[in-house]
Amino acid sequence: MIALKDASLLRSRCYLNGHWIGSDSGAFFPVHDPATGEEVARVPALGIAETRRAIEAAAGAFPAWRDLSAAARAETLKRWHRLILDYREDLAQIITLENGKPLSESRGEVDYGAGFVEWFAEEALRAYGEVIPSPWPGRRLLTLKQPVGVCAAITPWNFPLAMITRKCAAALAAGCTVVVRPASETPLTALALAELADRAGVPAGVLNVITGRAEVVGKELATHPAIRKLSFTGSTRVGRLLMEQAAPTLKRLSLELGGNAPFIVFADADLEAALSGAILAKFRNGGQSCVAANRFLIQEEIYQEFAEKLAQRIAALKVGPGFDEGIEVGPLIGAQAVEKVEDFIADAVAKGAEVVTGGGRHPLGNNFFQPTLLKNVRPDMRIFAEEIFGPVAALTVFADEAEAISLANASEYGLAAYFYTQDLNRAFGVAEALECGMVGVNVGRVSTPVAPFGGVKQSGFGREGSRYGIEEYLEIKYLCLGVGEK
Ligand code: NAP
Repeated sequence: MIALKDASLLRSRCYLNGHWIGSDSGAFFPVHDPATGEEVARVPALGIAETRRAIEAAAGAFPAWRDLSAAARAETLKRWHRLILDYREDLAQIITLENGKPLSESRGEVDYGAGFVEWFAEEALRAYGEVIPSPWPGRRLLTLKQPVGVCAAITPWNFPLAMITRKCAAALAAGCTVVVRPASETPLTALALAELADRAGVPAGVLNVITGRAEVVGKELATHPAIRKLSFTGSTRVGRLLMEQAAPTLKRLSLELGGNAPFIVFADADLEAALSGAILAKFRNGGQSCVAANRFLIQEEIYQEFAEKLAQRIAALKVGPGFDEGIEVGPLIGAQAVEKVEDFIADAVAKGAEVVTGGGRHPLGNNFFQPTLLKNVRPDMRIFAEEIFGPVAALTVFADEAEAISLANASEYGLAAYFYTQDLNRAFGVAEALECGMVGVNVGRVSTPVAPFGGVKQSGFGREGSRYGIEEYLEIKYLCLGVGEK
């Protein structure tokens, strides 16, 4: 078990209207350590009645929070930011406990996640409206930015802290109140964040964190008329379902969905930089990231050399429990994830792919999987078309730039894309041709609170982080003012 500086961060109740509550029925569900399979906590399985109470609490808290000055909201967010960093080590341990990622990555996630709180504390002060040059002499035209209202956030397990701050900090900065429903695998990080928000002086009802079955709590959040905006990060399948459920009440939506990122290496690339970028883009969080490199497209002149060198790096990755020193790849989140990755490899091998290194379950057992390299992968294989979400790099060869672009865009997804080249013309041309929301050129990682994160096509819509992130939680109101019009 973990040793926290402040054990009261480990909460086993939900945070509703400033109080810690259990479910009305007494029902709960277990949380497991993916590295050992052991149960590490139990949290309440709330039902519809408690979900409604959370929504009512958020609705009740909305007018006062909205009417605070932006500076006062910013101050509260800054205190939350400070506390998240003060408890960086405790939060990192909680993330590793329930998600399994290496402790060093959990620390990185705390810093990244805290960055959104700081960023949006500052953006709260810059939610400017504008004055529009008037077409009429006796009238003045203005726009105001006003908070959307009560928001719901449904978040995944792969970044249990950052996916929450990315939404909630923007919402709170805008003057909205929120009901958060974290993934069932990782509710403890969300509850610890609620505890710190409470200490930071976020008023009761402004931020609520509730746990419970997705089909019950999630559906209520997607259908309740008082929720004016739903922000979801997760799979495309569930995103579509929530969009359908939210349609009758015409909620505003942000959908950050699945990805299938191409990682293209042109023959003119700096090969060592591309190899380092490949490891970063593929194996962070064991490949369980929506922006993880999913399809490595390698130009034929360097295909063999790249495969050999990447295999060496992959074989050297240190796999183990996230709490152990120097671990680079932790366990997958659960047994189903392991089976899915196995199926992808079996399908690819049956259709002619070759396993260069790894290829199966890790001797450590449980949910551990060997970092794997497959080559000779083709578009008709499932591993090319679907999101892998595991530590498997799949290599496909291409002949020229046109083929690389065509292969890269042959996906229903369009979240992130990466490519390596030293040719400036190509850097711009390919970046513009790729159908996606984010492009890394000669880098294996692009996410930061200051830049817009989001996708196109079946990867969803809306942007988080950056100056655009707060706009998702603001309405534009147009004001036409008669000033002495005759
Ligand atoms: P998921 O199954 O869609 O789950 C995401 C969240 O939705 C969880 O909280 C889940 O709850 C909840 N959920 C599941 N079924 C629901 C339903 N019927 N109604 C309401 N909520 C429901 O996705 P996942 O497998 O956990 O997460 C991985 C996916 O997230 C990947 O596709 C990945 O690409 C995507 N992702 C996208 C981004 C991005 O920014 N674009 C970032 C991170 C992850 P339970 O935990 O209880 O099932």
